[in-house]
Formats: sequence, structure tokens, C-alpha cells
Amino acid sequence: MKTVLITGSTSGIGLGIATEFAKTKQYQIVFNGLETNGLEIANHIGKQYGVEVMFSNANMLKPEELRKMVDEAVAKFGKIDVLINNAGIQHVSPIEDFPDEKWNAIIGINLTSAFYLTKAVWKGMKERKFGRVINIASAHGLVASEFKSAYIASKHGIVGFTKTIALEGAPFGITANAICPGYVKTPLVEKQIADQAKAHQMSEADVVNKVMLYKQAVKEFVSVEELGQLAVFLASDIAKTLTGTALPVDGGWNAQ
Ligand code: NAD
Repeated sequence: MKTVLITGSTSGIGLGIATEFAKTKQYQIVFNGLETNGLEIANHIGKQYGVEVMFSNANMLKPEELRKMVDEAVAKFGKIDVLINNAGIQHVSPIEDFPDEKWNAIIGINLTSAFYLTKAVWKGMKERKFGRVINIASAHGLVASEFKSAYIASKHGIVGFTKTIALEGAPFGITANAICPGYVKTPLVEKQIADQAKAHQMSEADVVNKVMLYKQAVKEFVSVEELGQLAVFLASDIAKTLTGTALPVDGGWNAQ
């Protein structure tokens, strides 16, 4: 039995990924997130699919809490085979009004937490000669859009971090990849629709059709199941040479 730790897995994409891992029945799952009903969510998935779970509310901005979460997971399950850095936040604002504290929180949660967690699981992965690090970046890890300076800096940053650890992990059976989704209809995006409507001075329906899906050739939101099944594949034994990539799952946005 392998263990997967997924940050931000009590909502949206992270929860979708956790569900796909649970369906395989081949993983113990460490859930994490700030949702107050996180433990309930984790236990519900565990019961539904008959897999062992644990929950930690470690805050991505607190390195000591991240190290404690890894220690607790190793104490309970013996090891962490797969780390999925998924927790993330967004803030939409023109640069001149962009709040300093939002910049710092976005870089801290979306990028720096992946550094702390990768560092914390690395030694065990190296010793066992197996590891998978999957970073949930974004189409915005590859291209920019206006009003998202901190988010885009964090997502480009995590793509660079992914490539570096892919190189460092290669001699030890550790792969690292970034998944770069287009728009997925999660609470993060629901909030963005409202924020973007303000920033662009448009209706919410126009933001969806003229701003968000405008950039995708496939005019559909990406599903969490599609992302989850890709993550399950990247985590598998067969995906040994697939490393150092930033894989767009973005309806062709990056093809343009
Ligand atoms: P979401 O808001 O539904 O979930 C985010 C999760 O991160 C939640 O569980 C939340 O509690 C957790 N989180 C936030 N701040 C945290 C903190 N300080 N400490 C611990 N946990 C924290 O968002 P989502 O849309 O599912 O986003 C998940 C990831 O996917 C993010 O990295 C996001 O940038 C990325 N992404 C989302 C989309 C999209 O369209 N939704 C597209 C591309 C990439």
C-alpha cells in the first residue's frame, strides 16, 4: 500500500484528486486543508472507498506545521510515496493596487510551501528509491493574464521548481511533474468570477465566456476527474521517465 499526501484536498481540485486516488484502493491518503469540516470530508472518502485516511489542518504559511504533518503521516502510515502540492489561493487586482500581504500569502502558499514539503519528504523517497512529486501549477504557469501578478509569478515559479527537483530526483527513482490546468469550476474560480467581473467591469456571465473560456479552444471547464486521473497515472510505477514536465490540461489554451 502506498501513501499519498495531498495539500488543499478538502476542496475543489485537491478533493477531486484525492477521490481518484481513493478509487484505486491502492493508497492511504493524507488529507489537508483549512476547511473546518476537513476531518469529516476525509473520513467520508475513506469510508466510501474503504481506504485509510488521515487529516491535517497544517497551514501552508507555517513551515513547522508542514513538517509536523509529514512527521504525523510517516508515524501513521510509515512513509510518503507521493506528494501532491495543490493548495493555492488567488487574488485579482491591477498591480498598482495589489496588496503587499496578498503577494506574500500567494507566494507563500502556492510556491514556498511546496519547497518545505518536498524537502520534508525527500530523504525518505531517496532512501526507498521511489518518489513522486506532483505540483498543481496552472495554465498560468506557462502564460500570463493581466491582474494576476502574484499568482502567475508563483505558478511560473513552481514550474521551475518542478524541473529542478526532477533533475535532482532522477538518480533516486523520484519523478517530479507539474499539472497545468485551465479553468476548473471550484470555489477558487467561483470567487474569481466575481472579482474579475469587478476588475474588468463586466457581468459574471461575460467573464466566464469572454475572459475565462475565451482562452480555451475547448469551451468547457476542466473536470477534477480528468486532473485526478492524470495525477494517478503520474504517481504510478509505470510513469518512470515522465519527469520534469509542465503538462497543460487546458482545452488547448497553450496551443495558441
Ligand atoms: P479551492 O479554493 O477549491 O481549494 C484550495 C484548497 O487549498 C482548500 O482546501 C484550502 O483550504 C487550501 N488552502 C488554501 N490556503 C491554505 C493554507 N494557507 N494552508 C492550507 N491549506 C490552504 O481551489 P482549487 O481551484 O481547487 O485550487 C487548487 C489548486 O489548483 C490551486 O493551487 C490553484 O491555483 C490550482 N488551479 C486551479 C484552477 C481552477 O480553475 N480552479 C486552475 C489552475 C490551477
